[in-house]
Amino acid sequence: MLAASASLLNVNIVILDVGETAPAKQVLSPRNPSLAHIDGSFSDPVKIRELAQKADVLTVEIEHVDANVLEEIENEQIVSVHPRPSTIKIIQDKFVQKSHLRSHGCPVSEFIPVDSTVESMQQAARSLGLPFILKSRTLAYDGRGNFVVRNIDQAEEALKALGDRPLYAEKWVPFIKEIAVMVVRTIQGEELSSYPAVETIHKDNICHLVFAPLRSREPGVAFRAQQVAESAVKTLEGAGVFGVEMFLMEDGSIYINEIAPRPHNSGHYTIEACETSQYDNHLRAILSLPLGSTTMKVPSAVMLNIIGASSSMEEIHSFTSTALTIPGCTVHLYGKSECRKGRKMGHVTIVGDSDATVRARLRPLLVALPGGSS
Ligand code: ATP
Ligand code: MG
Ligand code: MG
Repeated sequence: MLAASASLLNVNIVILDVGETAPAKQVLSPRNPSLAHIDGSFSDPVKIRELAQKADVLTVEIEHVDANVLEEIENEQIVSVHPRPSTIKIIQDKFVQKSHLRSHGCPVSEFIPVDSTVESMQQAARSLGLPFILKSRTLAYDGRGNFVVRNIDQAEEALKALGDRPLYAEKWVPFIKEIAVMVVRTIQGEELSSYPAVETIHKDNICHLVFAPLRSREPGVAFRAQQVAESAVKTLEGAGVFGVEMFLMEDGSIYINEIAPRPHNSGHYTIEACETSQYDNHLRAILSLPLGSTTMKVPSAVMLNIIGASSSMEEIHSFTSTALTIPGCTVHLYGKSECRKGRKMGHVTIVGDSDATVRARLRPLLVALPGGSS
């Protein structure tokens, strides 16, 4: 999606990802031979250095990269890196990220360091209460790295699932809604701009639906969510878009769950629903171009993730056929070569002139999802 945005501005993209069928590679236009692909891993320092030789600015679409080599590249002034490697380092360790946010006065719920022993789990239960969430500090996504400990007898099971990774524990947050705000930060951070607050609905720890804009009983919630998100992003360095995931409580208070230093699933709706998409603004920010408006250009939108239910690509194609019949619906398939249960294969965004229209258009798609209705 970033490559698609870049092609509209004649910006050449060089991508680093594994394999001839890497999704971004499929977007690179053959009419522009200077576009290139480096076949390798974003955690391989040699490949990252090779990429740096070919680019004017480096950016990331995932935080699980080798941030040490990015820091070296920045220090050696080979090329600029956005967001700054120091930011990526803070974010890629969730315990460091939460500690950073707390030390800057950003609202986060209680959390403590733990080690991989049953005694440490018991200590966490005493200190945080039950249930609590055991989380992997690093390499987490789609909830793979989280274990909800509801009862202390589950301590061994939790350690069996996650015990080989660096861990910390978080207090359980009884939120009424999950919300998110995408924030765009310029290089100096003198100008921050946020997209509307949205409601995100997760299923099995994976983002399922995003409703934009956020609707709530208290009219000030969306604005407060933007303020919380902006104040958190202000504490980080470097340019680009940041996805700020938050919990909304019954009493109206807001906690930050985590921050993504990149375009984010909760911002996919911006492609069809906002004046400037999160990808356009990410590029503009890292290239020091004027930022575009973050305002919605339609009254209502919803994003639905297409998540594999099995290895069957047929189910994805069948869902797509239905989606193509829905007015206001845009399909994005990611070109992943294999389908797997729980894998994000694409998404659709539906726009409409009201929430009622959008929800009516969404209904048949929920039924058509891979694996049946939800
Ligand atoms: P991703 O990066 O794909 O968003 P992740 O693996 O980093 O996911 P989290 O965002 O930490 O995982 O958690 C996944 C989901 O689990 C959250 O969106 C939320 O629904 C739930 N969750 C996480 N932390 C808590 C908490 N402290 N209390 C209650 N629910 C939580
Ligand atoms: Mg995460
Ligand atoms: Mg998350």
